[in-house]
Amino acid sequence: MAAAPEVGPAIEVVDAIVIGLGPGGESVAGELAAAGLSVVGVESRLVGGECPYFGCVPSKMMIRAGNALAEARRVPGLAGRAEVVPDWAPVAARIRDEATDNWDDTVAAKRFTDAGGRLVRGTGRLTGVRHVTVRTHDGGELTFRARRAVVLNPGTDPAIPAVPGLAGTPLWTNREAVRATQAPESLAVWGAGPIGMELAQAFARFGTKVTMVVRGAHLASREEPETAELLERVFAREGIDVLTNTTITAVEHSAAGFTLALDGPGAPTLAAEEFLVATGRTSKLGKLGLEQAGIAYDGRTPPAVDAHLQLAHGLYLMGDAVGAGAFTHMSMYHANIVAGHVLGEDRGSAETHAVPRVTFTDPEAGAVGLTESQARAAGLAIRVGYTNLADSTRGWIHKSGNDGFIKVIEDSATGALVGATSVGPHGGEVLSALALAVHARVPVATLRTMIYAYPTFHRAIEAAVRAIK
Ligand SMILES: Cc1cc2nc3c(=O)[nH]c(=O)nc-3n(C[C@H](O)[C@H](O)[C@H](O)COP(=O)(O)OP(=O)(O)OC[C@H]3O[C@@H](n4cnc5c(N)ncnc54)[C@H](O)[C@@H]3O)c2cc1C
Repeated sequence: MAAAPEVGPAIEVVDAIVIGLGPGGESVAGELAAAGLSVVGVESRLVGGECPYFGCVPSKMMIRAGNALAEARRVPGLAGRAEVVPDWAPVAARIRDEATDNWDDTVAAKRFTDAGGRLVRGTGRLTGVRHVTVRTHDGGELTFRARRAVVLNPGTDPAIPAVPGLAGTPLWTNREAVRATQAPESLAVWGAGPIGMELAQAFARFGTKVTMVVRGAHLASREEPETAELLERVFAREGIDVLTNTTITAVEHSAAGFTLALDGPGAPTLAAEEFLVATGRTSKLGKLGLEQAGIAYDGRTPPAVDAHLQLAHGLYLMGDAVGAGAFTHMSMYHANIVAGHVLGEDRGSAETHAVPRVTFTDPEAGAVGLTESQARAAGLAIRVGYTNLADSTRGWIHKSGNDGFIKVIEDSATGALVGATSVGPHGGEVLSALALAVHARVPVATLRTMIYAYPTFHRAIEAAVRAIK
């Protein structure tokens, strides 16, 4: 570990330094600055991070638009006739103008500086336990020492597999997909996680011929098998081809588009106008100079944090980089704990037993805590309850588009839920009650005697807990 000088003419001393102003980093930096601390926020790209410019917000605008088309297509049989003529232009305009200010972070940057923070645009790295050196965008270098805290919130980048021919092609990651100015004729999607599934369905609803290439046997492999089975059924109904047990071995690009060489049970090649790579995310932790602060990092498993997300006294790690769930709500949850700890307030400790997650497909697939197989792998004795949404009164009334289910996992030793899945119309909203139950370890006996409003979708929770066996 290099010994960093404590002070010097080129070293500025401040209270706190935040590297990476994604959702949580921006929140911590802004709160500490508003509390009167001298705060340096370091950002190499856009203040706000992945979520508002390339992630949650633009993708949900696409999905909202695609869902509107899907609802209009459900009019026959429910309410007469509707002519549906998809047009991507309003989607592109909303993303450009309303979501991202044309990928300009002036408003977010001003929010931070108005709170009293100092924004340094550049790439930061640790040069000691509380020392940070920033290579600024104008080619300069600044070094800071923090009296109270250094907060690392570096987030992730899209992972691009090393496949012959792929490098240098105009492939899409989420960052290019959200900039689409029209829905392509055809789209190959590599990956079957939330990002791949959400974008595949959104484009398909605008008339794009979508083919998903999936390494494993199913979509959404980390979720309950019932989730995968249902989404596969819905995707097939909507004309999305899912090539399972298939991988891509080579990529060619020409004026006609992409040609992908496939290794799997189906056709040997796949042609598509655009190619979205959604095969996961890669951590940026390795570029932060952790070893300069005495923190060992093997390049794969994030180093352990304590209950207040400290790697060492006054050195915090938060957000996606922690590896406890790559979601904006986790980044914000961490931000509250870190800001409170730096300010000397008790805001609880970072827990991971009730992390909610929602894939915003239609139907929405929400889940919290453990899946059935995760609970069994953890050695818990469990009982499982399941109910089909189509069998509920609300599901029956809803009719077209009523695919869904609720599944609950009870730890029979404690009589409380350790996990739950809610798939269906508004499945992410219905999840909130289940997230509360898992978070607060509410006894299933209490859930069985609760009053559930009629005829809501969330009433299916009652049926699921009654079905526990
Ligand atoms: C398509 C898509 C859809 C998504 N949808 C959802 C959703 O619906 N709900 C949800 O909860 N989550 C969603 N996510 C995930 C969500 O975007 C992330 O979990 C969230 O942005 C994580 O915040 P973060 O601050 O940890 O990281 P990021 O948002 O990645 O921010 C990290 C920031 O740090 C900066 N940085 C990194 N290293 C340095 C450095 N050395 N120096 C200076 N700056 C640095 C980066 O430029 C970046 O701005 C989605 C993601 C994608 C890609």
